[in-house]
Amino acid sequence: MALTLHVDAARWRQHLKRYAEPEGTTIVPVAKGNGYGFGNATLAAETAALGAGTLAVGTYEEIADVRPDFSGDLLVLSPWRPWLDVPTDDEQVIHTVSRVEDLRALAERSDRPRVVVEVLTSMRRHGVGVEQLGEIVGAVDRVRFEGIALHLPLNGSQADQARRLGTLALDAMPSSAARTLWVSHLTPQAASALGREINAEVRLRVGSALWLGDRGALSARGTVLDLHRVQRGDRYGYRQRGARRNGWLVVVGGGTAHGVALEAPSPITSLRQRLVTAAKGGLEATGRALSPFRMAGKQRWFAEPPHMQCSMIWLPDDLTPPSPGDELDVEVRFTTTNFDRISWE
Ligand SMILES: *Cc1c(COP(=O)(O)O)cnc(C)c1O
Repeated sequence: MALTLHVDAARWRQHLKRYAEPEGTTIVPVAKGNGYGFGNATLAAETAALGAGTLAVGTYEEIADVRPDFSGDLLVLSPWRPWLDVPTDDEQVIHTVSRVEDLRALAERSDRPRVVVEVLTSMRRHGVGVEQLGEIVGAVDRVRFEGIALHLPLNGSQADQARRLGTLALDAMPSSAARTLWVSHLTPQAASALGREINAEVRLRVGSALWLGDRGALSARGTVLDLHRVQRGDRYGYRQRGARRNGWLVVVGGGTAHGVALEAPSPITSLRQRLVTAAKGGLEATGRALSPFRMAGKQRWFAEPPHMQCSMIWLPDDLTPPSPGDELDVEVRFTTTNFDRISWE
């Protein structure tokens, strides 16, 4: 019960339902990694409750996490590679193929695997180049072709790119091939407009905007486990640092194992941000770092770097400390946090 994700269940599910029912677009929920803070099994059950026909997972390994709770089709987002030892005759699984040689290797098998062909976008992560489309046409007839996939960047003119690449790719396929386009990072409205324009069934893969799209329905809180009064000069923590003033040590659930205070690298763009980062770096050099835990309306300082499952937070003497059992709001990044439990409220 150390680090808890509190969910306003009715509000959260209302957002899911609204998001998943746009006109003219099929939503493909994504469950991968830490399950966006919820865990992949929970997301699989929610996807089933939404009535979605397909759930996307990140890797082949994640199939085992979702299979017990979801019986529809499973799209694996990481591209199939010849060195992966995975069965290709699984009726439930749709493979993503992003290289000409991989498609040819799958086409040579007798089991006709279900396949989506990913085409390279300006993301330049995975995908067959548009100039290679002619090379895959022959192989498409020898697998069960389920459409073209595009992974779009988060900004820029995604809809234009989807229209251009989607048309090029679908027009290059045999006329008998499914005219289905799997996309990411479009709004449901843009996705359904795209489907009408290029006369294709558009399937929108969505993770963050679905599961984390209504942040007001979610809050992360750490439970206060212990509280210690400290006099100036008292030593504490792994590093036996001496307290510089009188105050409180608040021991709260949430540490490195939960991903607390482990931020993913983010691009530093503005000068102001650079200065803030430089200032924070300076403070860290003196042994202080601002924690993501809030008390009395403010983020508080770590007394020392977070431990595996809990953190020691410094609270000045003049504030009323929380009691063991109380919960503190904590700022988290949902895609890097592992909660101990979810509380549905
Ligand atoms: C992760 C992923 C998504 C979903 O991304 P969100 O930003 O969480 O919506 C969609 N498509 C692919 C290929 C992905 O890897």
